[in-house]
Amino acid sequence: MNTSSPHRFMGKSVLITGASQGIGAATAQAFAAEGARVAINARREDSLHDLRKTMKRVDAGEHVIAPGDMALAADVDRVMHDSLAALGGLDVLICNAGIQKEVPSEDVVLEDFNHVMAVNVTSVVLCARAALKYWRQHDLRGTILVTSSVHQKIPKPQYLAYSASKGAVGNIVQTLALEYARHGIRVNGVAPGAIVTPMNDAWIHDPKAYKAVSDHIPMGRPGEAREIAEPLLFLASESASYITGQMLYVDGGLTLYADFEKNWSS
Ligand code: NAD
Repeated sequence: MNTSSPHRFMGKSVLITGASQGIGAATAQAFAAEGARVAINARREDSLHDLRKTMKRVDAGEHVIAPGDMALAADVDRVMHDSLAALGGLDVLICNAGIQKEVPSEDVVLEDFNHVMAVNVTSVVLCARAALKYWRQHDLRGTILVTSSVHQKIPKPQYLAYSASKGAVGNIVQTLALEYARHGIRVNGVAPGAIVTPMNDAWIHDPKAYKAVSDHIPMGRPGEAREIAEPLLFLASESASYITGQMLYVDGGLTLYADFEKNWSS
């Protein structure tokens, strides 16, 4: 079902981190298709230029290229500052950049752990801080969205930093939502299941592995990036005007204890 409307976000400014591919890119395209002017962040400027060519043009001005490394606090601050200046404001902040690293937990390297936490958690705090300061200083309302994961809830062995980081952003969503609800600032998140994006190249192009992943999902298939973009648009829209502090699991039923589909326990 296509629920898009060319006008839902007309006149709105949106910033998306980690937007060069996967969920971030699909979300940037979806917001642009509904009239928003979007600032797109990732490390590589050339990939952002390529993405911009695929985004619907809007009257408010060109979509903004905002290169920067979300692992580096100075880059995050610069991306926020420059994007707000280029967009002339901000209505929706989407903290989507995320990385994972597989390693047995007894072999975790501190630098690697800190790197995952910097991209997946600290950048969320720094981006949110800048947006909240801007909205409060100008007495404006806005909304923050965070891309978490089913691994906020489901432990992911050998991905300790990733699991921990998604647990942290779940708490950040709730804490910020409570702190800023009285100011009309909403904070929510989506927690995707297994989605077909470059992050999952390891199994997407291997039919056996793809089937194994699909077999673990009650709906019998992984999700598409646009199926995460759509809930993000909903949560950013006026349709979600009374929703704050929520994490929407978008996972084809992955968090429903799928083993209980068959009655093995009684
Ligand atoms: P992806 O690897 O396809 O894309 C990640 C994006 O983040 C890319 O644009 C990449 O360039 C960017 N990025 C990575 N490190 C960065 C950095 N240091 N600075 C700036 N940008 C950086 O991944 P995806 O599947 O689109 O994931 C997007 C978000 O969704 C992540 O937070 C991820 O944890 C989450 N997620 C994905 C899945 C899935 O199955 N794909 C499931 C659950 C949660």
